[in-house]
Amino acid sequence: MLENLFPDMPLFDKNAGKSVTDRLNMGRLYIFNIFGAAGVLLFFAVFKLFGIHVLPGSYQTFAFLTTTFIFLLSAAAVLFTTRTHRTDLFDKVCYLYLFVFSAILYNFAFKATSDAAAIVFYWIVMIVIGCLPVLRPELFLVVWAIDLLPAVILAWGRGFPAATNTALITIGIMGLGLSLALYSNTIRKLDYKLRLDSALSEAETDPMTLLLNRRGLDRRTENIWPYCIRQKAHVAIMMIDIDNFKKYNDTYGHAAGDECIRKVTAAIRRNVKRRTDYAARVGGEEFLVMLTGIEPKLAVKWALDLKKSIDSLKIPHADTNFNPYVSVSMGVACAQASESVTFEKLREEADKSLYEAKYNGRACIYYHHRAFGKPGSTLKKTVGQ
Ligand code: GH3
Ligand code: MG
Ligand code: MG
Repeated sequence: MLENLFPDMPLFDKNAGKSVTDRLNMGRLYIFNIFGAAGVLLFFAVFKLFGIHVLPGSYQTFAFLTTTFIFLLSAAAVLFTTRTHRTDLFDKVCYLYLFVFSAILYNFAFKATSDAAAIVFYWIVMIVIGCLPVLRPELFLVVWAIDLLPAVILAWGRGFPAATNTALITIGIMGLGLSLALYSNTIRKLDYKLRLDSALSEAETDPMTLLLNRRGLDRRTENIWPYCIRQKAHVAIMMIDIDNFKKYNDTYGHAAGDECIRKVTAAIRRNVKRRTDYAARVGGEEFLVMLTGIEPKLAVKWALDLKKSIDSLKIPHADTNFNPYVSVSMGVACAQASESVTFEKLREEADKSLYEAKYNGRACIYYHHRAFGKPGSTLKKTVGQ
């Protein structure tokens, strides 16, 4: 039904927004604004119903101006969120919206009294409503609940005028209704996001090694590469391949081969430490590691460290004529990310370096046609020269 009422609502427009979560958030934004508008109308209707003139004379203009301000604020929030997809800021705008809204209501309520305690209470409530949800969004419901209770007690206990009583109770009930709606929406959103995230990460993880698979690698790179270009960051790509692995399988069997892959993977994971770095399984026994914010010298050092930790596993490999243990070959490429230095170009370079390492005897690292991690390694025969 909602689809027919709001055909261009991002929630239902499959092409709008970058992800399902974005669409969900934007839909929530629209719903919230419609809800807020209804809330303001309800506020005026309730007071009219009781025949209470809390908005005499100049207050009419004030109320009109503030309501207009609130709507302009929410319209700006809609525009901003639709354009930037910054839904985190939207939550803050919501709180500001409710804060201004309740500040106005309380102001009307206590205009009828000159009770000092009531004024103090008003400011305490304002500070709590204003600050707490911004710091802890999940406490939103609690804030409104503690807001409602003293409001009702104060209204009856202090014998305020009828206008104050009605305004206080209205604030409480409307606030509670709004917060319940927001709360259930947030829970639903979180639950949805959780399920979406776990489905996504399952689809992007290699089940055997728990590293990223090709799809995960693509998505991660799509996300991080523009950021690297903006930061003009140095990035390193390492291609890592287990040496003579076919022979390992032939000698020890496929199950042992799987176990060997897992051990090498564990060593890779131990060395990929920064949150911005990642490793992916791009072939049966071939891996890609991407490191950001790293100079070439340190990239080669990183590769040497990884080689060392794989060597130290000492996984026996009887059927090689140069090394009694499982070893890896690595190709390293490192450059400053830019529009012309693409991920694909850098990966191609790392691939070529890996090929050089294989071609020149395996169990070593190649970077810019130079061998590392080999005793007495010097410039060797290069690919394509
Ligand atoms: P090179 O040193 O040139 O890399 O030689 P290689 O034998 O390692 O390379 P090749 O690409 O010829 O062989 C890779 C082997 O890896 C072949 C395949 O049977 C094995 N392999 C691929 N995926 C898996 C896997 O998931 N488990 C096991 N046990 N073996 C795998
Ligand atoms: Mg291999
Ligand atoms: Mg291979």
